[in-house]
Order: sequence, then C-alpha cells, then structure tokens
Amino acid sequence: MPWSRNPELQTIAITTTAHATTSAANRSTAPAVMDFKTPTITAYPVPTETTRPVPRTILPMPSGSAYSGVSAVQRCINPACAREYGVDRVLVACPGCQSLLDVVYHWPKSHGLSFDRFTHRSLTTGPRSAAGVTTGPGATPAALDFSGVWRFRDLLPFFRDEREIVTIGEGRTNLQRADQLAKHIGFDVNTSGPGTLYLQYEGFNPSGSFKDNGMAAGFTHAAMVGATRVACASTGNTSASLAVYGAITGKQVYVFIGDGKIAYGKLSQALDYGAITLQVAGDFDACLARVKHIAENMPQAGVYLMNSVNPFRLEGQKTIMYRVLEGLDWRIPDWIVVPGGNLGNCSAFGKAFIELFELGLITKVPRLAVIQAKGARTLDRCVNDLGLGWLNRNPTRERGVADALSSGSLLTGDFPREQLKAEYLRMDAANERAHTIATAIEINRPVNLPKALRALHAMNGVVRSVDDHCILEHKALVGRTGFGCEPASAASVAGARQLLKEGVIKPHETVVCILTGHVLKDPDATVRYHMGDEQEHSFGIPLGRVANRPIRVPDELGAILAAMSIPT
Ligand SMILES: [Zn+2]
Repeated sequence: MPWSRNPELQTIAITTTAHATTSAANRSTAPAVMDFKTPTITAYPVPTETTRPVPRTILPMPSGSAYSGVSAVQRCINPACAREYGVDRVLVACPGCQSLLDVVYHWPKSHGLSFDRFTHRSLTTGPRSAAGVTTGPGATPAALDFSGVWRFRDLLPFFRDEREIVTIGEGRTNLQRADQLAKHIGFDVNTSGPGTLYLQYEGFNPSGSFKDNGMAAGFTHAAMVGATRVACASTGNTSASLAVYGAITGKQVYVFIGDGKIAYGKLSQALDYGAITLQVAGDFDACLARVKHIAENMPQAGVYLMNSVNPFRLEGQKTIMYRVLEGLDWRIPDWIVVPGGNLGNCSAFGKAFIELFELGLITKVPRLAVIQAKGARTLDRCVNDLGLGWLNRNPTRERGVADALSSGSLLTGDFPREQLKAEYLRMDAANERAHTIATAIEINRPVNLPKALRALHAMNGVVRSVDDHCILEHKALVGRTGFGCEPASAASVAGARQLLKEGVIKPHETVVCILTGHVLKDPDATVRYHMGDEQEHSFGIPLGRVANRPIRVPDELGAILAAMSIPT
C-alpha cells in the first residue's frame, strides 16, 4: 500500500520544483564529448599486475597519530575553480561556483600503507561499543577495527583525532560467491577458468542498506563541526540510516520524503527511530532541493545536510570497494556492477580506485557497470544517447603516481555542463518524472552525475538500464539462490546478465554485483511478486515467473502431505 495513506505523518506542500543541479550546470567550459559506448583503455591505461609489486609490508603506525604527514581538504571538482576549503567547513557545494566538492588527501610519498594493515586489524580484540554517543572517550581501537568502514580509516583520514569517529558497527558485510545464480544467468562457472559471480550483500549493515557506510563518515564529520541537527531527502534507505545514527548519537533528525513511493520497511525504520518525518508534496528531486536550500542558505537553522552531495558521505562509501577487495584476498575483479540512483555509490567507487592506484596499492582497476531502472535512466541517456562523458585534463598518469598526485591527480576533470543543463531543461519541458518499482533508484536528477562520469572514465565503465519486470525477476532469483535483496539491488544482477548477453562481460570474468539493500526493506514488492497481488498491476507487472505462491490447504493431514508432495 502507498505509504502516503498514513494520516499521522506531517504533510507540507511544495508546488515548485527547484532543482539541485541546475546551479552546477550553469557553467560551461568543456565542449568536447567522450563516447562511453566505445570506451578506450588508453584513456585510462591500466598496467598489468606484474609491472609493479603490490606492497605487502606491515609498517608500524607513526607515533602520536596514525596519520601524521597526511592532510585533507575539501576541493571543488570544477577545474576552472578548484577552490579548496578546510575539512572543518560545512558545505553542500563549492561557495565559489556551486559545483560538487571532493574530500582530497595529500598523503606523503612514503605513506607506508599496505593491505596487510587492514587484514591485521580484523584480528583486533578488546572492548567495543557504539561510538559517538557522548563526548566521552570515543571509540576503542577494537570498535574501530570491528567497523568495516573504519578498519580502513587510513584511506579516509579527514578526521583530526580517532576519538571523533562515529561508529555503530557498520560495514560487517558479506562478499558471497554465487555459483547457482551465476549458472542461471549464463556465467561459465563449470570451466576451469576463473570466471565467478560474487554478490556483495550491503543489506547486512545495521540499518539494512549500504547507506550506513557513508553515514558513519558523515556523522563523524558532523561531530567534528559540532552539528546537532541533521537532515536528508530520501527515497527510504538514507532516512533509515540517518535516523538510526541520529537515535544512537542523540542528534535531532529530519527526514524529507516525497509523495511518490517509499518502501514500508524503510519508512517504518525512520518512524521507529524517532526521526521527524516530513511527507513533502513533491518528488525526491524537489525534496532534495528544499533540504539543500535550508542547509545551505539558512545557517540560523543549523541543519547539517546528510545527502550524498555531502562529500564526507562518499568517503565512507568508498569502503564497500575495500571490503570487496578484502573478500577476494586483495585480488582485483574484472567488473564491479552497481545500481545507479543518485549515483553516490559509483562515484565513491571510482574515487576509491583512483586513490588506491595513486597510492600504489593496486596496479589494475576493475571496470564499472552502472545499472539504472528504465523509468529513471538519466545517466544512461546522458552517456549512451547524448554521449556525455568526463573530460580529464590531466592525463599524466603514465608518468607515475608521484607525477599524477603532484599535478592534481585523476580526480581532476570536467563534464559538458551546457549539454547537461540543456538535457535538464528538456526534461522539465517534457515534465518527465522518474517512475520505477525500484524506489531506491527512482531519481531523475542524480546529484552526483558529474562524479559518476569521472568514475566511468577512471574505470572504463558502461551504463545500462533494465525494466521493472526484469528487476523483480532477478530479485526473485537472488532470493532463491542466496540471502535476497530489495528491488533496486537486483538491477545490478539484471544488468550483469544483459551485459553478458551483449558480450561486454565475458562468461569467464570475475564479476561483483553490489546488493545495496536487505530483502526486508520492501516486503510489499516481494509479496506482490510472489502472490500476484492485484495492486501490482499499477506497476504493470504480472505474476512473477519464479513466483513462490503459498498453497492453500484444508486443515487435514492427507491434503497437507499431498501439498508437501509426500506420499502417504
Ligand atoms: Zn568551485
């Protein structure tokens, strides 16, 4: 049932549709276009793993701070601006040009980082508890090492002191080999080759979705700057994650939810965790524009914005990739396949691999596939129909990591601003709105689209979209062969299958699909799929092909055994 039937929620009206990305799209400096339909490896040359040995030495932590010699700043991604701001600033966009911000680190050349350090931390013992609850002593080393985010804290060292770090035990997620599913969708798992499908179950996070990775980092930054009120616009998972972190750390939480669809599992979390939940008469994009305006232009409100325009959120989401590598014993897969909504995840993944490469921790970068829903395919349209792409202006990478870092690194670049602005104007004129049963990715104006273009560039990526029917069928397959997932998550598996059919992904390759949310996030969609609930016709989706309907039987032993296919 639609959540908006709940009369208890507060409702406010939004009649205009301000858009978060228009200001960023007002500048044009980049007429060239990159065609991602025919990506070239030479655009991001990937050396073989044998060209440079991966450092494997465990080095002792520097005395005093584990991060001495490292500095962090917020930097505008627009190369024509490139202003830098301290990490103690609360910014939702570059004050100079309104572009997105990155958190950028300057590591010393002799940084001493190695993957073994992170492996070693997984063995840490000692007392641990949620951190950030009070202004007390902070997280114990065991609590930080228990966290699948903060075990990798050397790779997101924006905090001044480890005692500032907020953790509720996020990031303890599974990388699961999925042979049954792989066979079903066409992987070559029976050969002697290395081809393997893995599912990264981010639904095992405390609030049931990948959002907790970023929220741990966002709340750490909020603690650094003394924020007491936090807010987000949400299709559901962000609100659940924000609400649970707010509940545990004692912050006032505001959740803006559009009048479209939100899965009941997610709404129930925000309500139960005590978030002030505003049901806004507008879509997600309108909600985000409103909350961003309040955070950015009304400092007297003191509201800290926790959407993924917040660059600190994306720092936490990088760790999903670290755990994938960790799960593969630091082997690099051929492909990372991820659903695309607001595009924070794929943006974070691209940054993670750029940084690992520039640090010399990896010598190969996996390819990226971003999978959207047909009803919300803005990135797919921009990349594949309009040919928009990242315009890297500092291709100094072949000269080595040190040169790349000193010249501004692969993070530097631009995108065709005028073309994106024109596309958004066209969408407005056509009154286009996102519509998909995969509510977590029901977003028409992904705020991180420029960073997603950067990730696609860095990871030689592709974009595809799949329809709702396809998403639900693959969700059921994931459930039948594993732990299950929410609808949006299954877009990654459906997309991997499509790319296999196209020959883009090869059957012998190693592919990791990111499952972003827990199967219990959207029980309505699951039950409707299996039961063929008539309400489902509002989505135009018939009874599922692998539906598992309950069998109605009389309370009689013979009939029950017959239904169990057990001979009497
Ligand atoms: Zn700027």
